[in-house]
Amino acid sequence: WKHAPATFRALLEITRFHGDKVFVVYEDERITYEEHFRLVATLANRLVDDYGVRAGDRVALAMRNYPEWIVSFSAVLAAGAVAVPLNAWWTEQELEYGLGDSGAKLVIADGERAARMSGIGLPMIVARGEGANWAGVLGEVRADVTLPPVDLHPDDPATIFYTSGTTGRSKGALGSHRNLGQAPMTVAYAMMRTVALAGRDVSSAAGKRRITLLTVPLFHVTGCFAVLMTTMFSGGGLVLMYRWDPKRALELIERERVTILSGVPTNAWQLLSHPDLGAHDISSLGSISYGGAPAPPRLLERITETLPERTPANGYGMTETTALAIYNSGGDYLAKPGSIGRPLAVVDVKICDPSGAELPPGEVGELCVRGPIVISGYWNRPDATAETFVDGWLHTGDLARVDEEGFVYIVDRAKDMVIRGGENVYCAEVEAALFEHPAVDDVAVIGVPDDEMGEQVGAVVRLKPGAEATGEELSGFLRGRIAAFKVPSRFWFREAELPRNPGGKVLKTRLRKETLGL
Ligand code: ATP
Ligand code: MG
Repeated sequence: WKHAPATFRALLEITRFHGDKVFVVYEDERITYEEHFRLVATLANRLVDDYGVRAGDRVALAMRNYPEWIVSFSAVLAAGAVAVPLNAWWTEQELEYGLGDSGAKLVIADGERAARMSGIGLPMIVARGEGANWAGVLGEVRADVTLPPVDLHPDDPATIFYTSGTTGRSKGALGSHRNLGQAPMTVAYAMMRTVALAGRDVSSAAGKRRITLLTVPLFHVTGCFAVLMTTMFSGGGLVLMYRWDPKRALELIERERVTILSGVPTNAWQLLSHPDLGAHDISSLGSISYGGAPAPPRLLERITETLPERTPANGYGMTETTALAIYNSGGDYLAKPGSIGRPLAVVDVKICDPSGAELPPGEVGELCVRGPIVISGYWNRPDATAETFVDGWLHTGDLARVDEEGFVYIVDRAKDMVIRGGENVYCAEVEAALFEHPAVDDVAVIGVPDDEMGEQVGAVVRLKPGAEATGEELSGFLRGRIAAFKVPSRFWFREAELPRNPGGKVLKTRLRKETLGL
């Protein structure tokens, strides 16, 4: 009881006060806060009594963004166990890796993923679709149900989220109840500053209840912490989508009077570029925020052109920081569009050279983050933990600089740099410059092995439908914008979409393989 406020169960009790307000909307289904609490408490009791789930046990979730994902996540934590959200896009082998790595004793899945895992032989609760047993598992959902008694400490493990696997195999990020409890605090702080800067409640243009459209998967921290948890503890509504589709998003914003669009930059870009944009009433939108991947500069321009009254925001975070750590919004963002903003409350940052020594403002080095939202390490990966978490600081693997006012600029990922004849070329900078060309729809810059230079700069480009451009034209366009040594010497044009993970990040290892055969 001494630590009650810091554990998830205490936060869950708060949500019950939102009673009859609608919490989750999925297609025609609506779940109120009271219904959610009853479902969670009922499932938590079943997990303990019928499945023998005990504190510290891992329970995996393998589901699309269904309401049952949210109920299951809360129930696993309320039962004192560790929730292990698996990537719903994973293949059978990848799911098997996640289950084996986490040592899960039970899986809660949807029908499609249950079929993919049928050979694995773990007990399974199937929420919906083929083989669903959800209603039978829950049994009667009583109005007077209470959470099962468990004894938890804030530093007990709560979650294992797998990193996106952009730079290698996904690692299990082990988060505690304390990390989880602090995450909504950083978001609340971000909101307070944004509201103060804007001089009005940005969560809702019309001063209505905050309704958020969830455009990203719940199995990443952006969806789960930055969006779901924030919504849950503020008593807002959350509109789910089976899959991201900009046309459907426009319909849902209109139908549900959505006030916040929150996801990855690609979501906002596709929505605001959609030919049907003008045909929908999206005046309820108060803010458009994104993060988790670099935002192309033209996205902010597009927002200020098409929806000028809305507050744009760009948030930086990692799986290892339990979502948001650094945030740029409203007037700050308009004044410094290239920045990810300043560290949020409870977060410290520093920029380091390779020896770990702190660098002065203006110099580029590795971004390091510290604070109660930073997890203590990776599950089962002592080497990666020792390398990444040094003296209480998380080494992000991102290269950044900080200006005199404390605004952070991401330069690139340390692993996403081309070294051309000893000169560092940051892929993100070249990509941002190419995005400014009107014919370019999507682009990724990669290093191409070269005998003389070590590496050459290469660009893989997807043009807009009907648009035309040659490599010569694009390099001419770039020459006025970036230094000559950064201009790609090779261009590949492709019609297919670039391979991206659900977080919207280009999978460069796969792209290099597809493009160069390496
Ligand atoms: P892995 O660690 O498995 O290689 P990943 O780092 O892509 O994958 P995530 O934890 O989902 O996995 O992503 C965190 C990374 O996303 C950060 O290290 C950073 O490179 C990038 N990122 C997040 N937010 C932003 C942002 N607002 N702007 C630019 N980059 C961002
Ligand atoms: Mg990472």
